Amino acid sequence: MSNLKIYNTLARDKQTFVPIEAGKVRMYVCGMTIYDYCHIGHARMMMAFDVMYRWLLASGYEVTYARNITDIDDKIIKRAVENGETISQLTTRFTKYMDEDTGALGILPATLVPRATEYVPQMLALIETLESKDLAYQGADGDVNYAVRNFPNYGKLSGKSLDDLRAGERVDVNTGKRDPLDFVLWKASKESEPDEVKWDSKWGKGRPGWHIECSAMCSALLGEHFDIHGGGADLQFPHHENEIAQSEGAFGHTMVNYWVHNGFVRVDNEKMSKSLGNFFTIRDVLKKYDAEVVRFFILRAHYRSPLNYSDMHLDDARVALTRLYTALDGVEGDGLALDWKEAHAVRFAEAMDDDFNTPVALAVLFDLASELNKSKSPAVARQLKALAGVIGLLARTPQEFRQAAVGEADASGDAAIAEQIAKRIEAKKARNFAESDKIRADLLAAGVILEDKPDGTTNWRRA
Ligand SMILES: [Zn+2]
Repeated sequence: MSNLKIYNTLARDKQTFVPIEAGKVRMYVCGMTIYDYCHIGHARMMMAFDVMYRWLLASGYEVTYARNITDIDDKIIKRAVENGETISQLTTRFTKYMDEDTGALGILPATLVPRATEYVPQMLALIETLESKDLAYQGADGDVNYAVRNFPNYGKLSGKSLDDLRAGERVDVNTGKRDPLDFVLWKASKESEPDEVKWDSKWGKGRPGWHIECSAMCSALLGEHFDIHGGGADLQFPHHENEIAQSEGAFGHTMVNYWVHNGFVRVDNEKMSKSLGNFFTIRDVLKKYDAEVVRFFILRAHYRSPLNYSDMHLDDARVALTRLYTALDGVEGDGLALDWKEAHAVRFAEAMDDDFNTPVALAVLFDLASELNKSKSPAVARQLKALAGVIGLLARTPQEFRQAAVGEADASGDAAIAEQIAKRIEAKKARNFAESDKIRADLLAAGVILEDKPDGTTNWRRA
């Protein structure tokens, strides 16, 4: 069907992709733990798998793509208590924000979005199977733990032996664990915890551990053996190692054929963290930059490479994307389907088949744009728009893009600025401050400074 090669973390190599069932792909990605706004690292992760999903669809596969929502977790419980709201109020609110952010970035919804709280019976059944196979035990503190020493393949994803892994562990004497690497499957609940996160079980009231949530959800939705399992590089160990231990321990056979991990995001070449103050939510970034510019910026790096976030790189992405749109100026490029036999499309497909190499695929789009600048041929314009559309780019007209991304200020002058200011006043009246802030930021990026007057009007000047 296709010549797709995927880098499989399990094999530490690029491998030809062969689906379990011809023409069909089942893919699971570890989604968000919902208690705060998504940051740019989350955007990168969701974008990486969005591109894989889109390319699998473009390659003719029928794809079942599950991306879960973790709505039971210590961090969620803590935050809900701090905010004085229920856990479901907190998770409902931030799920809505996540959907808004991913929607803006052109990240397609997954076909299945399981929430951990909906799969507790399946988690309990899985823990019971593990207990019956001597892979789980209840400790003196009431927690049910996984017994890593009873699973011979433990460490196969991270490529480490149990001894190597143990050497890096702190020994915590205050738990009922037999081995420091044993991990919790079922946490006994404490009196102080809200009733909302307590479920009855044969081991007493409690709640599931994070790792068992994913094993239960993916096997319930995609079966005990499926094609692709993905997530951020930080999930390789222990999360994905533990998922393998649980699922393969319980089912007695291979769980997943291809394990796929995306790289980290760095900010100005430093690790992104709240304490360093270089931490950006998707919302922060979208106040300053058009969403398609952000998408383009992320796709310029290969998904396994580190992504270095900086205003300079985003400004550069805006200029580059503007070049692609400018090539489409004044050429009718709509209609007719993509011609996959055309030379650029062949190169584009080769790049995407090579472990989703979006930087090379984008280079092909720039080649098409230079050709289009010379020929102004509608056929070339169509091909450019259609290929870009495969990875979620160039869906707007050049005018629409400039208006949104550059404020149109330098394109058509004062009238356009006045129009943007009028739109911003409307947005403020409607209390849509995200929109009004965005218009201000877009104009500023185009060199236009706004000054709000006490009477509600706005003056502007060029920077
Ligand atoms: Zn997971």
